[in-house]
Amino acid sequence: MAVISPNAPTAELQALDAAHHLHPFTHGAGLRDKGARVITRAEGVWLTDSEGERILDAMAGLWCVNVGYGRKELAAAAARQMEELPYYNTFFQTTHVPAIQLAAKLAELAPGDLNHVFFASSGSEANDTNIRLVRTYWAEKGEPQRDVIIGRWNGYHGSSVGSGSLGGMKGMHAQGGMPIPGIHHIDQPDWWSEGGDMSPEDFGLARARALEAAIERIGPDRVGAFIAEPVQGAGGVIVAPETYWPEVQRIVDKYGILLIADEVICGFGRTGNWFGSQTLGVSPHIMTVAKGLSSGYQPIGGSIVNDEVAAVISGTEFNHGYTYSGHPVACAVALENLRILEEEGVVDRVREETGPYLKARFEELADHPLVGEAKIVGMMGSIALTPDKATRAPFAADAGTAGYICRERCFANNLVMRHVGDRMIVSPPLVISKEEIDTLIERARRSLDEAHAQLTEQGLMVAGQR
Ligand SMILES: *Cc1c(COP(=O)(O)O)cnc(C)c1O
Repeated sequence: MAVISPNAPTAELQALDAAHHLHPFTHGAGLRDKGARVITRAEGVWLTDSEGERILDAMAGLWCVNVGYGRKELAAAAARQMEELPYYNTFFQTTHVPAIQLAAKLAELAPGDLNHVFFASSGSEANDTNIRLVRTYWAEKGEPQRDVIIGRWNGYHGSSVGSGSLGGMKGMHAQGGMPIPGIHHIDQPDWWSEGGDMSPEDFGLARARALEAAIERIGPDRVGAFIAEPVQGAGGVIVAPETYWPEVQRIVDKYGILLIADEVICGFGRTGNWFGSQTLGVSPHIMTVAKGLSSGYQPIGGSIVNDEVAAVISGTEFNHGYTYSGHPVACAVALENLRILEEEGVVDRVREETGPYLKARFEELADHPLVGEAKIVGMMGSIALTPDKATRAPFAADAGTAGYICRERCFANNLVMRHVGDRMIVSPPLVISKEEIDTLIERARRSLDEAHAQLTEQGLMVAGQR
């Protein structure tokens, strides 16, 4: 079998990649012109590319490498499990030890009576499970008409047809026939972009009450669930005003609908607690998990449901499951990852030490002439770029132009920071040290300086209309 050598020149790897590899969320022409950056190794918070550059990964891959790269214990756990039992399924009354152990561990870590886990291999799959779970739950309770699920515009719940429908990404809905029937969306609690002249507190209440208005419009007997991320991730790290979540909880309780907290990013320490729901003081009936569950070392996700939902679902045969639901190697690696997070006190350190340090340093960026606000919860943060801090104006150029320029400067400065429109976001590995945080901020500031100079030179520091 002839395969290209991993040590082949970067240009050859890039050409072969562009010729045969279709990338997610990537414009094909851009990829062919520029070539993809080839990542070859990683250790801690540092990536190495095929040119030998060392890059600070302030995104933890895709928000998932919570314990950092290069953890030998995780490799060992995978190898041990592959030798013992590389695969068996959990269908038709069979099970295996890693799935038992992981389900029990998650029940222990998850708040309240969230004690039951349905496994998947990703967040998208888990949210697809949730759609069927919610509708089956209500059908079993004799209310099959409660098949509507409410999500939020600019929420992200995955990329499959079902989970992409729950999400509110208009660019995704435009391709491939989404959303599926029975999914409604309400506006997001993004005060910076959409709050107008309202105070953040009033705006938070108003956006929560949009849920109540939607339930009343659709019919209180038709709505089965509301799904939301405790802190929106892919939408740009949108932190709701403090008034938002208590009001959402009140509305969910009043109408007796299920609350699904999509914890795929917020879970496993990202916000300084095990789950984002704990940080924000909300009590979901179902939580979606993935990403940090295995720190990305194995593909695994799941739905953690409370005692009542589990009891109702167990009253029937739930005709649903994935070949890799509770994959033993993924479970073994996830379990070892949770052990590391717990025994090394990673979550506590984010809450008490490195999280507050990152917050203080990150919020300093708000004094930069290009930056309007800096928002951060635990270790997920974002800054809004603006040509006019006082009015929170967007740029006159197409949304994302400034963000893209800034992202490119970060890349050139060996810092992985993502842009969502004109917000720049960070979500570093939770094991990042204070010294590495200083490096992150220093590189971010340098990149902002360069982006500001470039935007000024190109005449783009001009306010536009919302
Ligand atoms: C990434 C993400 C998902 C989808 O997870 P995949 O593993 O990519 O399918 C779902 N919800 C949220 C909040 C996410 O950030």
